[in-house]
Amino acid sequence: MWLSLSDTSSSLPSDTDVLVIGGGVIGCALAYYLAREGVTVTLLERSELNREASGTNAGSFHLQIAIHQLTGLEVDSLAHRLLPEIRLYVQGSRLWQNLERELNGSLEMHVTGGLMVAETDKELSLLHSKQRIEHDAGLETHVLEGEELRAFAPFLTPNLKGATYCPTEGHANPLLAAPLYALRAAQAGAAIRTGAEVRTIDLEQQDGFVVRTSRGSVKARRIVNAAGAWTNDIAAMLGLRHPVRREGLHVNVTEPRERILTPLVQHIGRRLTLKQSANDTFIIGGGWPARAVGDDGRYRTVWASAAGNVTIAARIVPALANVRLLRTWSGPLAFTDDLEPLVGPSRQLPGYFTCMATTGFTLGPLMAQLLAETLAHPTGKSAVPDNFAPDRAAAAMAAARS
Ligand SMILES: Cc1cc2nc3c(=O)[nH]c(=O)nc-3n(C[C@H](O)[C@H](O)[C@H](O)COP(=O)(O)OP(=O)(O)OC[C@H]3O[C@@H](n4cnc5c(N)ncnc54)[C@H](O)[C@@H]3O)c2cc1C
Repeated sequence: MWLSLSDTSSSLPSDTDVLVIGGGVIGCALAYYLAREGVTVTLLERSELNREASGTNAGSFHLQIAIHQLTGLEVDSLAHRLLPEIRLYVQGSRLWQNLERELNGSLEMHVTGGLMVAETDKELSLLHSKQRIEHDAGLETHVLEGEELRAFAPFLTPNLKGATYCPTEGHANPLLAAPLYALRAAQAGAAIRTGAEVRTIDLEQQDGFVVRTSRGSVKARRIVNAAGAWTNDIAAMLGLRHPVRREGLHVNVTEPRERILTPLVQHIGRRLTLKQSANDTFIIGGGWPARAVGDDGRYRTVWASAAGNVTIAARIVPALANVRLLRTWSGPLAFTDDLEPLVGPSRQLPGYFTCMATTGFTLGPLMAQLLAETLAHPTGKSAVPDNFAPDRAAAAMAAARS
């Protein structure tokens, strides 16, 4: 299943067509799709593959419109923004459903459906409005209330006002996806190198870049910044800045218990995602904050966050009340100010691209696939929506000034 250390620690190629910076799920997927298209690609990761957001996340496929995509308890005015986003999630979910076959290996895929719960009348009304947008975007969801919900999901507290059910939501094991992509990428010809920290990037006089790392230099015709929470650190090496911020988030895991929970459970008004994993533990997350240690993207767990997160989980699924929490951890999340992915070519710097998404476990493989198509067929129409461009904030400011 894994690439060997002798592969990832061998010397760096002296030059490459595309150089991908970052060995999370997005960088590894990109290396795979590029190599499959016959593009010469090198991926550089400063530590080991899958150690940051891609290996510490909760593994949920988020398809329904969620609390972080909303600005308040009203969605109709956001329909123009949400419709294309949800269509993309539908496309991303189709990609995931074929991924085990495509990569010929297990990702512990569980497409078990997902429930997004509402505890108040306002939240229930939000479920109804968001469901209309999901329906228009081609995402199947159903609002369940009263006896219908209690019969469908007897493990939920009877105090809920309702829930939307989405049959295509679910989860996979985040410890498997990036490493399997990396293995298949290397088998298709990609050079995957770890322990290679990118330190400086210089523009070549004619064309391309010279990338200096802790293990030597590589000349690259094109660069993709797939450094997740460190996207801006890489951009700064080229004098650029993107609308990306980072935050530390928590995930918690309990002891295993008898299986009671098949679907993924989320909350429309509170930070909660909850699932029972393949080995019967409960994984509880939803975006509770961790504390920054310095300013380099390292985060410490916070007891108040773990406690707040599990309190909501036990309120929604009462059987959790006497289940012991075993471990809590944190990971670095990158997000854009407008919550749209940051994917595509830079208009300011030809040859430079970014590939970053906030719900990047769900959407990252699709973003990587679309960007790989664009890189492999540069004369064709870009497969990535224009509004994901990395310098869209600078372009919007320039347009506002003129
Ligand atoms: C706690 C948590 C829970 C989450 N839960 C979910 C979820 O349930 N569902 C979902 O869809 N999404 C979830 N996410 C978001 C998702 O994990 C990320 O969006 C996704 O993993 C991003 O992948 P990535 O490859 O861009 O970033 P990363 O996995 O962080 O990879 C970036 C890589 O770049 C490397 N790098 C940085 N700087 C350099 C350099 N100078 N040189 C070389 N390499 C460098 C880093 O070492 C890192 O390995 C969660 C995130 C967190 C933190």
